[in-house]
Amino acid sequence: MSAYLSMRYEGLSPYTPGEQPQDQQYVKLNTNESPFPPSPLAQRLARQAAGDLQLYSDPECRKLIPIAAEALGVKEDQILFSNGSDEMLGYAFMAFCDEDTPAVFPDISYGFYTVFADINRVPQRQIPLTEDFRIDPKDYFGAGGTVVIANPNAPTGLALSLEEIESIVKENPDNVVIIDEAYVDFGCESAVGLIDKYENLLVIQTCSKSRSLAGGRLGFAMGNVGLIRDLDTIKYSLNPYNVNSMTMAAGIGAFLDREYFDMCRKKIMETRAYAKKALEDMGFECLDSKSNFLFVRHPAVNAEFIYMRCKDRGVLIRHFTLPRIRDFNRITIGTKEQMDILFETLKTVMEERRDEER
Ligand code: PMP
Repeated sequence: MSAYLSMRYEGLSPYTPGEQPQDQQYVKLNTNESPFPPSPLAQRLARQAAGDLQLYSDPECRKLIPIAAEALGVKEDQILFSNGSDEMLGYAFMAFCDEDTPAVFPDISYGFYTVFADINRVPQRQIPLTEDFRIDPKDYFGAGGTVVIANPNAPTGLALSLEEIESIVKENPDNVVIIDEAYVDFGCESAVGLIDKYENLLVIQTCSKSRSLAGGRLGFAMGNVGLIRDLDTIKYSLNPYNVNSMTMAAGIGAFLDREYFDMCRKKIMETRAYAKKALEDMGFECLDSKSNFLFVRHPAVNAEFIYMRCKDRGVLIRHFTLPRIRDFNRITIGTKEQMDILFETLKTVMEERRDEER
């Protein structure tokens, strides 16, 4: 820390992104990226857009919005784009939380929520997940602050039903309820169909996972016009050109290519079922994931040991150090071939463990 840093940010503990090591080729199953490249149409349109990079991008995203709105079933004034959904979440914390309006979210969830609360100096109330790592909707009724729920939750992968989400929205009429649907396309029902009914509901999604554009950075929020305008005010006060032209073009291709989108997510859901079975056969317990990752623990082998030894062998998975979940690893669903490499590696690692114990 320099002597010049504003007191506002003193002691701020930033988000730690999943590791992206460059020292060797890894089978990368640690940051929930798609194992599939962007749709060919998305790639082609992004390449074309590269020829116009001397111009600023369109701050209103006028070409992207009608196509995305149509694909997502919302009106054009109910959607706003951002540089990844992290940026949109940041805007939402700025717009809808303050000293008297804490951020309310589960104790085990996306690690960025606590950072967004801290950087905005707003209080946060973390509500413990149940013993079996579920969100109990009743815990959020009359929350007295802005509720933020990832559905499916990360890193557990467990999802709430649409009825459960609706009950939370309904029981917080005086506060915004933000549903972070980063992983919704892998088998969970979106709450977006409720935005006409509830003016306090904000749904945030991303093109990073199911639309294979993590490196493009394209996120979006959907909600009633009032909420979208509030977020737009924040965007125009920070970075009007937040979505660059190549990403906007890639987004257009990704939303137009419905067939590719459906094919990729179907493959991931099939591979998830295949991986769950294989891991359970090896003695792992897997939570019932509705996302593109599995959250797993082995009753007999330490999770950090598994993570470290897999890394040594070129397979990256994610281990968290939070006390409640340090027995778990989170494994992104890759291609079937990548998962087979993981299983072979895990078998070797478990053998090593047995040998060391002998
Ligand atoms: N929400 C959740 C629950 C996530 O896991 C992630 C990915 N790390 C994000 C939001 C942000 O994704 P992006 O900024 O790539 O859209």
